[in-house]
Amino acid sequence: MCGIIGYKGSKNAADIILSGLSRLEYRGYDSWGVAIKNAQGLEIFKQVGKISDAKEHEEKIAKGTMGMGHTRWATHGKVTEENTHPHTTTDMKIAVVHNGIIENYQTLRDTLLQKGHTFTSQTDTEAIAHLIEEYTKTTDFLTAVKSALSDIKGSFAIVCAHKDCPDLVCARRDSPLVIGVDHKNKEYFVASDIPAFIEHTKDVLFVDDNELVILKDRPVFYNLLDGRVVEKKEHHIDWSVEQAKKGDFDHYMIKEIKEQKETIKNALAQKDSVLEGLAQKINEGFGVFFVAAGTSLNAAKSASYMFSKHAGKHVNVADASEFEYYKNFLTPKTLMITLSQSGETADVLSAVKAAKEKGVEIISIVNVMGSSLARTSDVSLLMNAGPEICVVATKTYTSQLAILHLLAYAVTGRLERGREWLKYAADKVDELTSDTEIKKLENLAMRLKDSKHMYLIGRGLSYPTAEEAALKIKEVSYIHAEAFSGGALKHGAMALIEERTPVIAFAPSDETFDDMISNCMEVKARGAFVIGISPKDNEAFDFHIKVPELNGTSPIANIIPIQVLSYYLAVLNGLDPDRPRNLAKSVTVK
Ligand code: GLU
Repeated sequence: MCGIIGYKGSKNAADIILSGLSRLEYRGYDSWGVAIKNAQGLEIFKQVGKISDAKEHEEKIAKGTMGMGHTRWATHGKVTEENTHPHTTTDMKIAVVHNGIIENYQTLRDTLLQKGHTFTSQTDTEAIAHLIEEYTKTTDFLTAVKSALSDIKGSFAIVCAHKDCPDLVCARRDSPLVIGVDHKNKEYFVASDIPAFIEHTKDVLFVDDNELVILKDRPVFYNLLDGRVVEKKEHHIDWSVEQAKKGDFDHYMIKEIKEQKETIKNALAQKDSVLEGLAQKINEGFGVFFVAAGTSLNAAKSASYMFSKHAGKHVNVADASEFEYYKNFLTPKTLMITLSQSGETADVLSAVKAAKEKGVEIISIVNVMGSSLARTSDVSLLMNAGPEICVVATKTYTSQLAILHLLAYAVTGRLERGREWLKYAADKVDELTSDTEIKKLENLAMRLKDSKHMYLIGRGLSYPTAEEAALKIKEVSYIHAEAFSGGALKHGAMALIEERTPVIAFAPSDETFDDMISNCMEVKARGAFVIGISPKDNEAFDFHIKVPELNGTSPIANIIPIQVLSYYLAVLNGLDPDRPRNLAKSVTVK
């Protein structure tokens, strides 16, 4: 996690870095800091807490045309000013921002302490600055950075600067980093993610693992392992600046929820030939594993029901962080389908690494073009959802579901039929985010906002929807929400139902409807307040949320009212849904 941005050009670096950091805040918001290089040397500004309004801080930060910034999601060391990046050497000649974990930091630190270095933070990162300094005693800055990085074990994306060096030096291993270029104005950017600099340039160069980049009069790439210069291809990103901005909305979360009527359609823009090729691989694969984490894992679980229902095909689903325990089942005939919004999720990337060692073919469904996952996969499908800035996933979940549906239909040669269903679903989704619907859900949130617990139930295709709904409620409102299959309640969880306990039930018009109504009746008989998400009302519901009649594609629409409800549960409790406590988007540490 953590957000990094660096700039070298002719403008005031602080303006660019601050606005970039506020765009990157979804990656971490424990504390933030900036280093500016100017005639005085390196000047540092740090603050604990969210960056919030970047404009407010501009005056306090030094002027200069080169610098770096960092917004932290702490791994080593508490959330304090001393632990905030950038980290510097005692003489203030070197500054470093870092995303990742230095696994051997304790050993490095002990050796450096013996050599007389003084540490002022508890972070793993500070060791990098001191290690570079140690090497500069015998060599130039660039060689010192290279040598320091070869001593480091663990993951890093770093940007570093030396007071006497006119260039920014950046490098990565297992943490994301991308370079933005504006050759005309001789401006260069480096960041953890593209939204950080999208208003300045859409031309990017992706940094691969074990690469070091020097931002000189143009970016120069080196392979850290063999020291050779690497030639890179520029890519043009078609995300718009508006997509990365909040516009008139109070929060990104509600903006992104409302974008779904477009993003679901955009997700369908996959080439038939590619989908058919994948369908063939799925059919021929000896064992198909869907691997993902968090919301994407819920989409993967949904896929297992879709493939069973629409394609009569068994697929396995694995939590990315648990995947390595399955590796004995992998053979070169296994197919792995990975899902990740950012394409940088550490757990997914390490599952991919383990699978690749066994010769497994990797397919990925990602939102971020050029992300590590997209580049390490044999085939990668883009969600086309535009940047998702809110920490909790909304639009990318429905984009994943749409693509998975297409794949499930493609497996039985019915791709066109699948497309028709999805286009129909995308049109219907609009109804769910109308002002009237949103007001109704805001009123429901008002009734539920003081609840301590909520339970969500669904069967078949709707069971993963219930799981995703519970995750949304927990993430943003901090209300304990738990999902069960409709049938599982009476096997234990029913003991938790008390008078007025909210139970949200997904009851689409499919084969699960009658059983779901029975399950609603069972909890209602024990005092629960039953909220039914269904195309038709029923006496079992105390509150009815009407959703379109969609049958097989119902998960795409049925999650949306709960996304909206979660949003209001957070807002009405005075919480910031875009930046939930302890969470960060793009979980780039294991
Ligand atoms: N390990 C560094 C710290 O705690 C960076 C954390 C991260 O990238 O999430 O400050």
